[in-house]
Amino acid sequence: MTPDSTIDISSPSLKGFLWRQGKFLRTYHVLRVLSIVAITPFLLLTQIIVDQAIPAGDTTQLWALTGISLLLLAVHVVTMYFAVKSLAPSMQIIFRELRARVFHKINFMSFRFLDSTQAGKLISKYSFDTNNIEMTAMMGVTAIIPETLRSLLLILILMIMNPWLAGIVLVAIPLFACARLANFNEIRRSNHLVRLARERMTGQANEYISAIRLVRGYGQEDEALRQVGNTSVHYSDERVYQTKLNQSLGYMLFTVIMIISILSTAFCGWLVINDMMSLGHLVALVGALPICLWPVSMLTQFSLQYLQGAESYRSIKELLDSDSTEKWTGTRMPEPFRGEVEFDQVTFQYHPGKAAALKGLNTIIRAGEHVALVGSSGSGKSTFIGLLLGFYAPTSGEIRIDSVPQPQLSMQQFRQNCSIVMQDNILLSGSVLDNIRFGKVTASLDEVREVARHAYALEFIEALPNGFDTVVGERGATLSGGQRQRIAIARALLRDPKILILDEATSALDYESEKAVQQALDYLAQGRTTITIAHRLSTVRKADRILLLQHGEVEASGTWQELSSRAGSFRDLLAAHQ
Ligand code: ADP
Ligand code: MG
Repeated sequence: MTPDSTIDISSPSLKGFLWRQGKFLRTYHVLRVLSIVAITPFLLLTQIIVDQAIPAGDTTQLWALTGISLLLLAVHVVTMYFAVKSLAPSMQIIFRELRARVFHKINFMSFRFLDSTQAGKLISKYSFDTNNIEMTAMMGVTAIIPETLRSLLLILILMIMNPWLAGIVLVAIPLFACARLANFNEIRRSNHLVRLARERMTGQANEYISAIRLVRGYGQEDEALRQVGNTSVHYSDERVYQTKLNQSLGYMLFTVIMIISILSTAFCGWLVINDMMSLGHLVALVGALPICLWPVSMLTQFSLQYLQGAESYRSIKELLDSDSTEKWTGTRMPEPFRGEVEFDQVTFQYHPGKAAALKGLNTIIRAGEHVALVGSSGSGKSTFIGLLLGFYAPTSGEIRIDSVPQPQLSMQQFRQNCSIVMQDNILLSGSVLDNIRFGKVTASLDEVREVARHAYALEFIEALPNGFDTVVGERGATLSGGQRQRIAIARALLRDPKILILDEATSALDYESEKAVQQALDYLAQGRTTITIAHRLSTVRKADRILLLQHGEVEASGTWQELSSRAGSFRDLLAAHQ
């Protein structure tokens, strides 16, 4: 199942989604109702046995009624069997889709949102909260709905038998409900605090686990433990309070159930003594009362799960119904795509009111041109690329690709025609082959070998224990920096991009690997629009044009010769790097 084809994120309401998914449970509900209807007359049969068959000494009637009871029981058991069988697969369909939805939505969240959200928080929503909703739904569907129906049917039968009986039950239930409601708000508040604490805890742990090299490299394990420990302590404090609340509610309700049972048995006994009720009715009530109160007592248990589920629901709803998504809705794609990039008076602020990271930037990068962006750290080079790829939208001004304004462009198709190689390239945890194929999942092994050769990576890949099938550790930890970089270049090359972006692709490498990687990059850049960001000025010497950025503005533009003959920032920058 590919989420793309099944998920319509234009109508992301969580409630609507779950409601529609209810269709998968139809068979289950029908079977469950049948099983309940089959078992309910049981009470009536008992009453007839006590009030008629036994006093009359009528054994035929006794056996007949017993036979009917057994028959009804058989219907109940068979329908229950099939109901239970159909439930688990249906539930899994629903929650697999919910998870797919959550993940799909995360894929579309804007970078503005993602920049300020810890990954662990999103993981907590994806795994913990979806699971919590599943448990809640499971409990509701298997217990609450059928048990409530059963108790309603029983009350109806009691009412037909003797209005007193129904009266007693109807008085008992609201008493119960009041006891439950008393703690409701406090429990809800506590669940909310527990959820926030859990997200903080997962977020913090995830961050330090991802940064384990930094932590160990600095010998700061104790500090990491302290930071992670703090969030864990905070979480356990919230859990302690939540558990206390839940338990006190449980005890209180048990007491209320017992009081109701004792009093109503006594009251019925008094009615029987005064000839206002038959013994059969008393027996029926003693049998029915626990069943009628059962859903309510279950509701109390359920209410705890329900409130936790409701919090998870809120947590996921917050994400699914969030408006913080990328807003690209364009559908155009230039045909043929040449790869010309135009920035027209582009200004961009990461946050309103903050200094602009790009200020009124104008430039045209012709198809096939090789442009280098240079400038001191923080001058806006990576921002330029973030805007080009549509990770952020300009605050004002317009970006055009082959003369198509960015908002009209099909952003996904456009990105599929770009390749980016960064300083710290992300390798996924699969094999070398999987990692290169990420550039184009349909590529054949021959194509992959070919690009690996051009990326100067074939030799070392073939020397790996399992060649292309060697599994690289998460984030590629088992390979050297230069090797990871060349795999990333092979990946970039495989899709034969029209626009190639190199963001400090060689900055983190030693001289030897840099030479190999640079050769690979030179090959990769041939015949494509290439935008290179580099600190090492030697690597930009070959560019057709160099843009010198300073505080988000183009300070100078020209070839290496032109710029280096002029006085100014470029000379200073050059001098600093000699
Ligand atoms: P460069 O790549 O040239 O070093 P950047 O484009 O990364 O510079 O940054 C330009 C400016 O924007 C800097 O002042 C930086 O602090 C700011 N900036 C970069 N990324 C973000 C972000 N995600 N949120 C807020 N500010 C940012
Ligand atoms: Mg940068």
